[in-house]
Amino acid sequence: MMIKDNPLTKQGIDFELDHIGIATPSLDEGKRIYEALSLGDPEVEEVPTEKVRVAMYELANGARIELLEPTHPDSPVAKFLSRRGPGIHHICLRVKDLRKVMDELLAGGVRLTSQEPKPGAHGCWVTFVHPSEAGGVLLELSQRP
Ligand code: ZN
Repeated sequence: MMIKDNPLTKQGIDFELDHIGIATPSLDEGKRIYEALSLGDPEVEEVPTEKVRVAMYELANGARIELLEPTHPDSPVAKFLSRRGPGIHHICLRVKDLRKVMDELLAGGVRLTSQEPKPGAHGCWVTFVHPSEAGGVLLELSQRP
């Protein structure tokens, strides 16, 4: 898979590590280690489209840790927890123009979880690349509002 026609993209300049998503049965449980590390109070938000509650910790370099607690048994995160238990659920790359990146990936036949950008946490627009396309890792692509 190669995104074409943009020399900057090939150098990774248009991509930043935004956050690492960690699935947990409860935010209280997931927060324990970050409280022990004195990372402060995370922003907590419900994301109805993914049926999760998220707690975001921002690190010094701007990357974040996102704890994900399912709010419904149908939630993809609930299914992940029942299959694999708590742990790293996805990594998220921040892109400048999600629509453009999606168009390029879809044109290349890459499986995404949606054909359109979807609303994510904190007003971001997101999509996910299927793990079968990304070495077994669920890859979120996110554009800030
Ligand atoms: Zn995420």
